[in-house]
Amino acid sequence: VAGSNSREVVIVGGGPAASRCAFELRQRYDFDGAVTVVCAEDVIPYDRTRLSKELLAPQPPEAGLRWLEPYSSYEEHRIQLLCGQSAIGVDTRRSRLNLSGGQELRYDKLVCCTGGTPVLPPRLRSPGVYTLRHLQDVEALREALATCKRLVVVGGGFIGGEIASAAAAWGIGVVLVEALPQPLASVVGNEVGERVANLHRDSGVEVRTGAPVEGVERIDGSLRVGISGSEPIDADGVVVGAGMAPAVEWLKDTPVRLDDGVVTDSQCRTEVDGILAAGDCARWWNPRYQTLMRVEHWDTAGRHGKAAAASVVEDSAGFDPLPFFWSDQHGVKLQWIGHASNSDSVEIEDTDNPNKFVARYSHNGQLTAVLAVGQPRAIAKARQELQAVHSSS
Ligand SMILES: Cc1cc2nc3c(=O)[nH]c(=O)nc-3n(C[C@H](O)[C@H](O)[C@H](O)COP(=O)(O)OP(=O)(O)OC[C@H]3O[C@@H](n4cnc5c(N)ncnc54)[C@H](O)[C@@H]3O)c2cc1C
Repeated sequence: VAGSNSREVVIVGGGPAASRCAFELRQRYDFDGAVTVVCAEDVIPYDRTRLSKELLAPQPPEAGLRWLEPYSSYEEHRIQLLCGQSAIGVDTRRSRLNLSGGQELRYDKLVCCTGGTPVLPPRLRSPGVYTLRHLQDVEALREALATCKRLVVVGGGFIGGEIASAAAAWGIGVVLVEALPQPLASVVGNEVGERVANLHRDSGVEVRTGAPVEGVERIDGSLRVGISGSEPIDADGVVVGAGMAPAVEWLKDTPVRLDDGVVTDSQCRTEVDGILAAGDCARWWNPRYQTLMRVEHWDTAGRHGKAAAASVVEDSAGFDPLPFFWSDQHGVKLQWIGHASNSDSVEIEDTDNPNKFVARYSHNGQLTAVLAVGQPRAIAKARQELQAVHSSS
């Protein structure tokens, strides 16, 4: 193992970042010290992206739930899994992680991959209001979908859009409420966002935009969703897709720097010796864009976990991905690559089908990101183009 003196690696989290980090240590680096994964959920790591897709379908496919690795792989690779246990604090002077069950784990390297928790503002909390992040959320939401006649989805981001899409397939009335002028406007802009709104409308979803939700009130067993400046909406179920907050409160009494996530350098290292972070909970220095970044997407989280493993064994060249994500809405695949926060123009390449197009974002004439809607092949080409433009070296 290249340059590593670490003998005990403890990884906290049960998503792709934690899982990839653990397996990479064994499979790529032949790391022969102890590897322990601590995960608050009481199931082995699974594919979270299916929660709002296959697992919310009226008839979920067989094997709708997918484990990231079969249980036997953890044994085979001598990865100790502690499921159903939460990290609750760290004694950084003694290099000990404290677990909810009272156990203390010694570490040489501690990798934080705790993802995030859905944001649910107090004014939206009520029985009948749901969020979706973990497997345990699916059952409650499915029960609601089975009895609902009208569902309000608060938030037109990717998860809100997928939930609206899944709920429409149950044949119930769905209202998607978005505070911005269009769904996804903060990522794809208003022009493309309007097309996404139309995709929902074509499938029978009512879309209310420019509609900030004020609160939810429970009246005689049904729910009233108050909208600032317009009519309230009555429903019998509400799902909130209002983003997530990094799950880092267990680190708050440590010297680890927290600022919208765990702040690290490009090699996943915090300023505290031996503590690293990866995935949705980490805000790291991306050399490609010369900025701190936090990304909340599956592909990046898995790659980030691998980068953390490289850093554990001191073989890291720095983590500089082109952010990539996909989403499935009403049977159409949306794929995004790049980073477009400073884009000043968007060019749309249309096809005969309004639900199939490519949007190319640029800044000062230079390509920054590409969104491919119903055009899966366009993304590989876009990746090559963006690699050439935004090379970090
Ligand atoms: C419903 C849904 C659909 C999605 N669909 C897509 C998609 O289509 N495309 C896409 O690109 N991305 C999608 N994402 C985003 C993607 O799932 C995340 O970016 C990815 O899971 C992040 O991986 P992670 O390993 O950083 O964290 P997570 O997958 O969030 O895993 C974090 C784990 O840490 C555990 N944990 C938290 N706190 C503690 C603690 N104190 N102690 C121990 N364990 C703890 C959590 O229980 C969880 O198991 C979706 C997300 C959701 C919720």
